[in-house]
Amino acid sequence: QTPPNVMEVRNVETFYGPIMALRGVSIDVPQGKIVTILGANGAGKTTLMKTVSGALDPEKGTVTFLGERVEGSEPDQMVRRGLAHVPEGREVFPFLSVEENLKLGAYTRRDREIGDDIEMCYQYFPILKERRAQQAGTLSGGQQQMLAIGRGLMARPKLMLLDEPSLGLSPLLVQEIFGIIRRLNEEQGVTMLLVEQNAQIALNTADYGYVLEIGRIVMANDADKLLASQDIQEFYLGGG
Ligand code: ATP
Repeated sequence: QTPPNVMEVRNVETFYGPIMALRGVSIDVPQGKIVTILGANGAGKTTLMKTVSGALDPEKGTVTFLGERVEGSEPDQMVRRGLAHVPEGREVFPFLSVEENLKLGAYTRRDREIGDDIEMCYQYFPILKERRAQQAGTLSGGQQQMLAIGRGLMARPKLMLLDEPSLGLSPLLVQEIFGIIRRLNEEQGVTMLLVEQNAQIALNTADYGYVLEIGRIVMANDADKLLASQDIQEFYLGGG
């Protein structure tokens, strides 16, 4: 039995002025799954993230989140509805401490279990506990990426958008962070939409994948089937 979709995108067209960056994109994100969007530079991955998170309005098509139409919503409304956007480029608050950054991730919540969730973040990212009082701007790139994910978790999101978590990290750190992403999905049930240029690690981590080329979805399949596909091998995994 397939779980219900947390998010459904249908025939979305997004423009920058006269430039059509998404040309009728449709994707499903089922509850409890990791879905990845692959694509080369300029394929439209960031545009798709911005369209589903409210930063860009699509000209056409629909975005449904938790059963409600949300296209055209403001980013802040999307956060309150349960969407956590873990941004590209490690956008943590550099002059705040690690722990203050985590607390800010919970700003939409009214309940009092924030302390428990901070401990949960520290359990997944022990280095953040060691550095809890340190200014976030002084962390390494990998640690800042961990903090960005931890901050997203603090919102207890219904859907977490991960934008290129491998960017600028060493292969070893990439393995470590994706291992934790997988564990957060399996152990905490976090549904994730993952945008990645590193097709190998993304398909090893995700359940399902879409390939975006010049604003269109050109392939969609189970991640293991995409990993085995000749086209993916040739164009995205450097094999063939
Ligand atoms: P990258 O991995 O480099 O971020 P991407 O797959 O995320 O690539 P997008 O950034 O979504 O691709 O860009 C999709 C297309 O839209 C590209 O052709 C890009 O040049 C164009 N584009 C992106 N941002 C703008 C903008 N602000 N104004 C005009 N065109 C843009």
